[in-house]
Amino acid sequence: MRVTFATEPAHHGRDNEDFIGATADAVVLLDGATAPAEITSSCSHTVRWYSHTLGSTLLAELAQTIAPLAELLAKGIKHVTSLHDFTCNLSRGDSPSSTVAMLRRIGDRLDWLVLSDSVLILDTGTAEPMVICDDRLDHIAAPTRARLRALPAGTPEHAEALREHVKAIGEYRNRDGGFWVAATDPLVADRALTGTVPTDKVRAAALLSDGASRLVDCFHLATWRDALDILNQDGPAELIRRVREAERSDPHGERWPRGKAFDDATAVRVTM
Ligand SMILES: [Zn+2]
Repeated sequence: MRVTFATEPAHHGRDNEDFIGATADAVVLLDGATAPAEITSSCSHTVRWYSHTLGSTLLAELAQTIAPLAELLAKGIKHVTSLHDFTCNLSRGDSPSSTVAMLRRIGDRLDWLVLSDSVLILDTGTAEPMVICDDRLDHIAAPTRARLRALPAGTPEHAEALREHVKAIGEYRNRDGGFWVAATDPLVADRALTGTVPTDKVRAAALLSDGASRLVDCFHLATWRDALDILNQDGPAELIRRVREAERSDPHGERWPRGKAFDDATAVRVTM
C-alpha cells in the first residue's frame, strides 16, 4: 500500500486534533471532537491527547494482529480508557471522543471500518466511487443545529449556539437513537460501519476528516469523484488548499452555514 497524506489545523499554530498514521498495510485516521473552551470537563485529558493516543494504539495493534477491525478498536478504546484511571472521573461522560476510520490490506482483501463522520472513499473503477460515511450525527439535535447555522460565525451569538449544540449532541452520544463515537466504552466498536472488499477491485482509496470532506459534502464544490481526482493528480495538500480557499471566501458561514468556519483537515490517498 502506498499512502500519502496532508493534515493541517484549523488555525495556524493551534493544536491539530486530527490524527493520521500508517503502517505498510494499514492507515488510521481519527478526528477528535472539539469541546468549546468554556465547557469544563471532569477529565484532565485533551481532545488531541485522546485522538493521538487512541490512533497510535490502533497502529500498534494493526502491526501485531489480523483480528477484525472492530475487535481491534474495542481493545484500543479499552486500553486508552484505562489511562484515565486515577486522574479522571469518567462518570459524567464528557471525556474526549473521536471519529475513527481504518483501512487495512491483508493479502487479497481490504478491510475497512468507519465510526462517526470521517469519510472513506473507495475507487472501484466505476463512475461512482463507493463512499462510506457514518452520518448518524447529522440526524440528531436538529433544532440546535438549525439555530447554529442561522447565525454568522465569529459572533458571540454563534459561540453561544455552538455551546448549546455541543451540549445537545452530548445527550445523544453513544446511545441508541443517537450516534456512536470512540470515547471510553469499548462496546461502541460494534456500532462502527465495517466491510471487506477484494483488493483487486480497488484502484485507490481516500480517507477524509470532515474538515476535508466539507469540500464535497458541505460546500458542494466537488463530487466524490472529483475529490479522488484531486488527490490523484495534485495530492492531498491541494485538496486541503481548496477547502481553505472556500472557507476564507465565506468566513462567517453565510454561503455555507457550518459549525466551524475553519476546521482541522486531513486528506489521505491510498493506492494498492
Ligand atoms: Zn482523562
